[in-house]
Amino acid sequence: PEFLMHDLHGILDDILGILRHRMEKGRVTATTDFAARGVELPLDPEKIRQLFMNLIINAIQAMDGGGTIRLSSRLVDARHLEVSVADTGNGISQGDQKRIFEPFFTTKEKGVGTGLGLSVSYGIVKQHEGSIQVESTAGEGTRFIITLPLRPQHT
Ligand code: ADP
Ligand code: MG
Repeated sequence: PEFLMHDLHGILDDILGILRHRMEKGRVTATTDFAARGVELPLDPEKIRQLFMNLIINAIQAMDGGGTIRLSSRLVDARHLEVSVADTGNGISQGDQKRIFEPFFTTKEKGVGTGLGLSVSYGIVKQHEGSIQVESTAGEGTRFIITLPLRPQHT
């Protein structure tokens, strides 16, 4: 699909505003390190908003008692921007890391999670011809790394 060019940092700023009260209630602090601020790339803004909302809400829910979310962006090379969402939450076991992108996979109580957030997020990243990876240590925290192309891919 053809997307219009946007700076996704505006979307990330909006999300942090929308979630500010929820973060304060959960004693979650967010820090940003946006080295790629101002860089425009082809995006569907509504979908990208949904993707990062999912990741940040998961991060808040993983930090019972509070913690820190670090959002960062950088240009990895001449053609790709990387955004990472890191938390100091409960982490994801190696076994679960293999399953988190499957639809309906959840470790949350009934009524809390549908298990759809990451499978939808995976689809959104694929629509943008990007990639999403997870790094996590149980008990320490989790980092999701999203890489997106700076130019439309004609494959
Ligand atoms: P849901 O949030 O409804 O459970 P998701 O697809 O968003 O569904 O996430 C699937 C599962 O992945 C969660 O239930 C949780 O076990 C795990 N998970 C996702 N993000 C994190 C995170 N930041 N920290 C710890 N676990 C996570
Ligand atoms: Mg979720």
